[in-house]
Amino acid sequence: MTIHHHPSDVMLAAFAAGTLDPGERMAIATHLSTCARCRAFVDDMEYVGGVMLDDLPPAAMPAGSLAEVMERLDEPASRTIQVAPSSDLDDVPGLPDLVRRCRAGDWKWIAPGVHVRPIIVPEDSPTRVFLLKAAPGTRVMQHSHTDLEMTCVLTGAYTHDGTRYGPGDFDIGEEDDDHKPLVEQGEDCICLVAMRGDIRLSGLLGQLMQPFVRM
Ligand SMILES: [Zn+2]
Repeated sequence: MTIHHHPSDVMLAAFAAGTLDPGERMAIATHLSTCARCRAFVDDMEYVGGVMLDDLPPAAMPAGSLAEVMERLDEPASRTIQVAPSSDLDDVPGLPDLVRRCRAGDWKWIAPGVHVRPIIVPEDSPTRVFLLKAAPGTRVMQHSHTDLEMTCVLTGAYTHDGTRYGPGDFDIGEEDDDHKPLVEQGEDCICLVAMRGDIRLSGLLGQLMQPFVRM
């Protein structure tokens, strides 16, 4: 697999530092599961972060800190990730364990040739995650975003603005970027999409469909 499009270094560094929200983390983890180059970058960042922590001078703990920590050990773990007994996502190739552990809804039709399937992010997240499947030759309706959209191609390929995105590629759509991707012939194009904000459909058909499309 030859990967041509990667997340930015800033995004990878934020992943290594643990500062992405849970939905964004799932998108970057999906890319890392197939991209050795970005995995090496993240490993380096984690190593540098560890060295910096080791070099920090020790700081005195406030009185009572240890007792407070021991008390919290007895609290219920409300934010632990819920592990599904068997994965809903075993039939989807190219997903990392972080995503595969999540529950997923059913595929639902949103437009001719296009289906979406929500992935339930197990923690509060401003970024929603879903799978998008488009049939070969589909031109996905022209749309723009009110915020950031990250797309990881799992199978198939599409072109957008003359650039081809195939398996393993990472595509980032910024606010108000107008998209009208065309899916290549051959096989279904399945992508994992992490999206903050809303999607805005353009054109008359898009405006008519907008009230019915909730992703
Ligand atoms: Zn990469």
